[in-house]
Amino acid sequence: MNLVKYVRLSILFMLLLSTVAMAGNSVNILVYHHVSSETPPSTSVTPQQFRQHLSALSEGPFQVVDLAWALNQIQTGAPLPDNAVAITFDDGYNDIHTNGMPLLVEFGMPFTVFVSTETIDRRFGDMMDWETLRDLQANGATIANHSVKHDYFVRQFPLDDVWLAAAYADITEAQTRIEAELGPSPKWFAYPYGEFNHALRDKLQQEGWIAFGQQSGGVGPYSDFQALPRFPAGGIYANWNTLKTKLMSRPLPVDYHALPDPITQLNPPQLVARLKEPLPNRQKLNCFVNGEWLPTHWENAQTFSIQPTKSLGAGRSRYNCTYSIGDGAFYWFSHQWLRP
Ligand SMILES: [Zn+2]
Repeated sequence: MNLVKYVRLSILFMLLLSTVAMAGNSVNILVYHHVSSETPPSTSVTPQQFRQHLSALSEGPFQVVDLAWALNQIQTGAPLPDNAVAITFDDGYNDIHTNGMPLLVEFGMPFTVFVSTETIDRRFGDMMDWETLRDLQANGATIANHSVKHDYFVRQFPLDDVWLAAAYADITEAQTRIEAELGPSPKWFAYPYGEFNHALRDKLQQEGWIAFGQQSGGVGPYSDFQALPRFPAGGIYANWNTLKTKLMSRPLPVDYHALPDPITQLNPPQLVARLKEPLPNRQKLNCFVNGEWLPTHWENAQTFSIQPTKSLGAGRSRYNCTYSIGDGAFYWFSHQWLRP
């Protein structure tokens, strides 16, 4: 999309938003992969399900927003619509173009697609090519960075300075490739598989990036902007009724940057979280791991810790917490661990 067109669209978009209530300070980001009934169900929504999602999102209380605009509102302390939602896709499969885009255009919704450049260059599997991505761009998409090779970034050893330099070089190489084909792209990076450690996160912060994981939760004033959560919306998460509850949630007000490194030696790992605002009734905070309820230990009025009794298995695990704030709405909090 050229700049003039982008500015024109942005103005139109802001005029549109000025007609809705701007009382929120957070956005919930959805992450999709496939829009198809022929791809692996675990990472897919069918076109029918996708239409159902967009149709529901086009009505109150939801407001689908442009991701760049929403992140900027949060970073500058400016308001957002009360139930703001942003739409993203990872990987760049062809079905986003054939099945997803026509519906997004029909509903007039902006979206972001994170692509791994080597899979696009080599047309791995059923990936889009650059020409197709240009067509997405012309229809409201922002194309952003999902690395060159889609490797497991932090399942390599040792995770030392040489590793970090190579990981960061992969990210900048992908950015160069995207910009060569599509023009300027925001400095946004979606971690492949949502996996990262603090060394990589801190490097991206130093270099001025915004980065996205795949732990669930919303983005708000206390978010860690190099570890932003997104709600998965495909596979078992595609059910609209449960997804709707998540999209009505707000991020639990904790200091996200101070959360532990997802990769830790301690097993089961202890999560310590510091609340930025006290909870009126901390008994209502409920935390779980793999379906097991976890007791919360309060170190003081605004610091709690949770630790399961059983060790975590290999791969990714998540601790999830919710807190009812009334009217069917929740604070939501999730922390992902990785045992390589
Ligand atoms: Zn991916």
